Amino acid sequence: MRIAIDIDDTIANTNQLLEVYADKYDKLYKEGHGIIDKNCYKFNGMYDWDENDRLHFFETYMVEVLENVEVKEHVPDVIKRLRQDGHYIIFITTRDGDYIEDCYKLTETWLNKNNIEYDLIIAGDKRKSDYADLLDFDLFIDDNVKNCTKVSEKGVEVLLFDTVYNRDNHDFKRVDNWLEIYDYITSKNN
Ligand SMILES: [Mg+2]
Repeated sequence: MRIAIDIDDTIANTNQLLEVYADKYDKLYKEGHGIIDKNCYKFNGMYDWDENDRLHFFETYMVEVLENVEVKEHVPDVIKRLRQDGHYIIFITTRDGDYIEDCYKLTETWLNKNNIEYDLIIAGDKRKSDYADLLDFDLFIDDNVKNCTKVSEKGVEVLLFDTVYNRDNHDFKRVDNWLEIYDYITSKNN
């Protein structure tokens, strides 16, 4: 199968590290009121920040966060096994091109550093669903409901990776770890 996989909060614990940095930013650049609404998805609602603070935060820390983000458990091993089983692995990430000079290079360096194998990287392009046709995805794995919806409209099977921000969605098969994903893919192919 041709399997397309998101990076942030699908194979990497990005939000977890972003929150560490948001706290640091709040203390260094703002008055350090801390989190005022923990359920707000956007940092300028979660913290006592305005939209400019949010943009300044991303400009200041985004690259550092993405370079240092931790890989989710079992990812390198599961991806390696999937490739050994004959699957074609595409990592597809939009990230935020505005704050990152070379999204492809940053992503490639991070994958290599974490010993994660791949066949193709698509980085910094916002239209994941266009690639579903272009690259003929058989399976798409992402934590973002909008991406999952758009890609599934192309007739591609979708797995929604669990995060605190998508728990109210039950439109797709939900997964929350990479061993489960390996077993699911393997059972489909047997
Ligand atoms: Mg994501």
